[in-house]
Amino acid sequence: MSEPKKVITRFAPSPTGFLHIGGARTALFNWAFARHHGGSFLLRIEDTDRARSTQEAMDAILDGMAWLGLDADAPPSFQHAQADRHVEVAHQLLAAGQAYKCFCTAEEVEAMREAARQAGEPLRYDGTWRDRDASQAPADTPFVIRFKAPQSGETRLQDAIQGDVTFANAQFDDLILLRSDGSPTYMLSVVVDDYDMGVTHVIRGDDHLTNAGRQAQIYASLDWDLPIFAHMSLIHGADGAKLSKRHGALGVDAYRDMGYLPEAMRNYLARLGWSHGDDEVFSTAQLVEWFSLDAVGKAPARFDMEKLDYVNAQHLNQAEDADLTAQTLALDPDLAPFAAQVQAAMPLLKERASRLGDLVADAAFLKAKRPISVDEKLAKHLNEANLAHLAALHVTLNGLEAWTTQPIEACIKGYMEAQELKMGKLAPAFRAALVGNSQSPGIFDVLSLLGRDEALSRLKDKIG
Ligand code: GLU
Repeated sequence: MSEPKKVITRFAPSPTGFLHIGGARTALFNWAFARHHGGSFLLRIEDTDRARSTQEAMDAILDGMAWLGLDADAPPSFQHAQADRHVEVAHQLLAAGQAYKCFCTAEEVEAMREAARQAGEPLRYDGTWRDRDASQAPADTPFVIRFKAPQSGETRLQDAIQGDVTFANAQFDDLILLRSDGSPTYMLSVVVDDYDMGVTHVIRGDDHLTNAGRQAQIYASLDWDLPIFAHMSLIHGADGAKLSKRHGALGVDAYRDMGYLPEAMRNYLARLGWSHGDDEVFSTAQLVEWFSLDAVGKAPARFDMEKLDYVNAQHLNQAEDADLTAQTLALDPDLAPFAAQVQAAMPLLKERASRLGDLVADAAFLKAKRPISVDEKLAKHLNEANLAHLAALHVTLNGLEAWTTQPIEACIKGYMEAQELKMGKLAPAFRAALVGNSQSPGIFDVLSLLGRDEALSRLKDKIG
């Protein structure tokens, strides 16, 4: 019995824009599938469109992949660098009679297009040079090399997600393999590269499904084994419409800047099309353990920022305090002198946070300068009666031996009971004096985290 082939997947972005959410999901599925099977995950930059490929887009893709933690098993390869090999294969097809030189001028091809347009038919090449000999062409006429596509019958694919897919061969015309300047086209390059890289599974968006039909014909004409294709349905917005910027179709760098954790992005992106029962929140190790193409659905997934926030909140809550502290300090260097307090506050901060920015905002009370400025909504709570209570509590709190949450809470609650006061009445006054706004953990914790001196001084500033 022959050994099962080692799984090799690839992510093949064109560096013409940012790594958007759809591309990131494609990369993740290829990565997770390869990791699940102990195979290899490769990154191929499809930079054949020289005019539209930019270094900036290339960097954004590599940065995005690194941030998402989608490590490839080899340095990235560049499609443009393989052009000679693509040309060689085009000539191999030409020699075998599977391709031909087409000498039609741009005007002639445009006229075919126009005729098709007028007839309401698909734009296609009419096969003028398919059966003519190159010797009939006028000397020195530029030519392209076209693939001699089968004109009748069907091309069938067993797609791992879409199932049995059949294309009538009549729907495909003779596509260009080499342009008149000798440069290979995407359709040829992708087939040759996937074959040369030993790719076993091509997992990508279903906007490439028709291309797969054309590519399958090229594989067949070269007598190469087809990889397994798996075409994922595209991502839609929460309202069911095609995903656009309005829905959050941004580059992954935007999600990093918005304060999402890479592990939460991996978790959320995995759920866009793939599922494991009802599991909504899981680790990357679980994703790798559970991932299979069988569990990728055919229906378009919906991208929902609220769900992403929910998943991110769960991952924040599970993250290490020290790690989150470091990230918080990196986002707000002014918190650096308060690093120990930020870390002490982290179990409370992370419980309340949906994004990293929430940690920064909720920790800001630690660095606030005295006298604390109080926002309008809270200012009214610093009335005479409440200030009298704060003054009385200032004395009692000052007498506490241990300055930790529990005795602070017991002390304040004891006072309130004795005075027959409800916490809801005095809490806003405490908050006004200690924080100045509503962005912080609860006031017992705030008192404790500020430390005795700072907390009592903030109270004193308001009591007068
Ligand atoms: N370069 C193509 C794209 O970015 C992907 C090609 C493929 O995955 O086969 O859409």
